[in-house]
Amino acid sequence: MRAITVHPQHPNSIELQEVGEPPETEGALLAEALVLGVCGTDREIIAGEYGEAPHSHARLILGHESLGRVLEAPDDCDLKPGDHIVGIVRHPDPVPCPACASGQWDMCRNGLYTEHGIKGLNGFGAQRWRVPPEFAVKVDSALGVEAVLLEPTSVVAKAWDHADRLWRLADAPPRRLLVTGAGPIGLLAALIGVQRHFDVHIYDRNREGPKPELSRALGATYHSGELDAVAKLAPDIVIECTGAPPVIEAVLCDVAPDSVICLAGVGSSHRGDFNMGLFNRNMVLNNGTVFGTVNANRRHYALAADALARADRKWLSRLITRRVPLARFAEAFEHRKGDIKVVIEFMS
Ligand SMILES: [Zn+2]
Repeated sequence: MRAITVHPQHPNSIELQEVGEPPETEGALLAEALVLGVCGTDREIIAGEYGEAPHSHARLILGHESLGRVLEAPDDCDLKPGDHIVGIVRHPDPVPCPACASGQWDMCRNGLYTEHGIKGLNGFGAQRWRVPPEFAVKVDSALGVEAVLLEPTSVVAKAWDHADRLWRLADAPPRRLLVTGAGPIGLLAALIGVQRHFDVHIYDRNREGPKPELSRALGATYHSGELDAVAKLAPDIVIECTGAPPVIEAVLCDVAPDSVICLAGVGSSHRGDFNMGLFNRNMVLNNGTVFGTVNANRRHYALAADALARADRKWLSRLITRRVPLARFAEAFEHRKGDIKVVIEFMS
């Protein structure tokens, strides 16, 4: 079968290779790939900045945003051939740490977890892949290709879950949401905000392209240009998805009273001239909360499946701005103007 592989830590080693069928030791559930979503993490792995092949292997099969169709399932699980599934990306560490031991591998404390297509486990960028049944999430086949958005949605479902736990006033719930960055993660975070009847504002540097219209179609208010004006909206919850230091600084320096700020984007780590004293004053004097979040556990995939099932399918389909056939896989990793989510089609 064909698979998209890389030699981790070696820049630009990506290739479409002929590889062996996935061994049964990788899981009793066998699926054929329908589509694969690509994201910034894949580009970092391709650039050699990140990634780890399975033990005693040189190459890693890339890809963690999956959508597959079950070919073989054990009798004792509730999945059957033909079902559409998404593979859960992270697996618990073998120790396991207290978080992994309780099924919350997204909060792993010792860093020994593994991740499909990223760290120590082959990914879903292959014509066929295997996972243990308990690491597959069934999705409604009526969702079609859009179900590939389940993994990125699970990440924002977790962000919402944790923001809920951190909001301290049960009798005065949050009303206004600011999302910074209108990429797939930002738009999916905004989708959940709209579903929860928040007054949703989205900031992105792009004035043109599909993002302003997609935001408005969702019922959100779109902002671009001056960041100061956006921070003055006094949002109760901020979900920061750009990872861009100037944007993060703006949201951290205009903290609204009682607000919860979720950092969900990853950017460069260059040292800047961040004013720590001002940050401290802002957080203390405004009862502010700031937290970071990554990854998702099984419960978040379930929340995400629910959010996608309730979303307008037409709107979801507009998030997928390019579909690239497997034979031309390299094009999927190029940045093109107007890209939101790019997917590789395995069945074309
Ligand atoms: Zn752990």
